[in-house]
Amino acid sequence: MNFLKLVLDASAFISGFLPQEDEYYTVYDVIDELQDEQSKERFSYFLNSGKIIIKEPDPKSIKNVEEKAQRTGDKLSLTDIKLIAIAIETSSEIISEDYGIQNICSIFGIKFNSIRESGIKKVIRWEYYCIGCREIFSKNTTICENCGNLIKRRPIK
Ligand SMILES: [Zn+2]
Repeated sequence: MNFLKLVLDASAFISGFLPQEDEYYTVYDVIDELQDEQSKERFSYFLNSGKIIIKEPDPKSIKNVEEKAQRTGDKLSLTDIKLIAIAIETSSEIISEDYGIQNICSIFGIKFNSIRESGIKKVIRWEYYCIGCREIFSKNTTICENCGNLIKRRPIK
């Protein structure tokens, strides 16, 4: 298999990154950083599609990253530090817009990517479908007019 292992920070979800064929990791703290509905939706899409693994790094890896960050003077949040720790533990690349993270990544020899630069940004378009009769609706309604079941939404592939 030729997929990548990628660690995603909050900016990946905020900027509209969607899962491809790769394997994704993030940390619990990132969820708190997602403020707007769209970012939260994207995050749950990752989660529901089974594409992302939420990990808590080993305290030893956290300490390792903290020490390096102190030496360079990069101001990293605990979330940033955890993300880098996960990248080391899983031998993943990082997707982040944060220069501090990118800087520490180069020290550890971790590959990193910026969403803006790599052009992997995508826009989600939604469709609405009935959980009963599976009819697809183009606009948001809550109840199916055919069978009275609930309407849910999913991204159009
Ligand atoms: Zn229906």
